[in-house]
Amino acid sequence: MSTIEKVLTRIDADLDNSLSRLFDLLKIKSISTDPAYKDECRTAAEWLAKELTSIGIDATVRSTEGHPMVVGHRKSGKPGPHVLFYGHYDVQPVDPLELWDTAPFEPRIATREDGTKIIVARGSADDKGQLMTFVEAARAFIAETGDLPIDVSVLFEGEEESGSPSLHPFLTANKDELSCDLALVCDTGMWDADTPAISIMLRGMVGDEVIVKAASRDLHSGHYGGAAQNPNHIVASIIAGLHDENGRITLPGFYDGVIDMPEEVTA
Ligand SMILES: [Zn+2]
Repeated sequence: MSTIEKVLTRIDADLDNSLSRLFDLLKIKSISTDPAYKDECRTAAEWLAKELTSIGIDATVRSTEGHPMVVGHRKSGKPGPHVLFYGHYDVQPVDPLELWDTAPFEPRIATREDGTKIIVARGSADDKGQLMTFVEAARAFIAETGDLPIDVSVLFEGEEESGSPSLHPFLTANKDELSCDLALVCDTGMWDADTPAISIMLRGMVGDEVIVKAASRDLHSGHYGGAAQNPNHIVASIIAGLHDENGRITLPGFYDGVIDMPEEVTA
């Protein structure tokens, strides 16, 4: 059997324990947007640091202005790329509660009409489930072979669902420690239920406030209507002008430093 086959066999054999560990994490109410759950967020971070340490990844909980980060390393200068694995332990709020069939923080396995099984709990699909696939893969690899095949660092944050305000300052402050050749973000989706997908890019958001002022006083519609500039129209035309007819952003300099997609990807 090849190494990878041995690791996969071990993962299959350990599935019940893996599920029970995932369920333990899913029970923690780590809702990052609601200050009432601040302690639960820290509990999730501590749970993960302990879990990583127990499998041989040297991990600590690191405080930020907001919810803590979990940083872990298993590095011995192995040849090949140094990979940083990213995930988040915080979850979306659960309201409205009455739309849940069962309590969101009491994980369960449900069988759907077509016979397939799913894990039902807040965070099971975003991002605790994905995050634990990495932890379990690392656990099996270390247990089976005594090590990971490459140098690995781990970064779990607790503010992804609330705009990640601490992430950029944390990355900047810990640039040397977290520098890597490749960042693996496990917070995406599957192509379909049976086909894993490798997402090669993610989109972001920009928020801003724009104030448009026109007339200095109320203007009578009978005298000025249609002739004087109306701020609503101006704002509408600014928004409409942000994209051209092909959906490309028209802001000068927006694409500076953005690499064009290789043809193999766009084809
Ligand atoms: Zn996510």
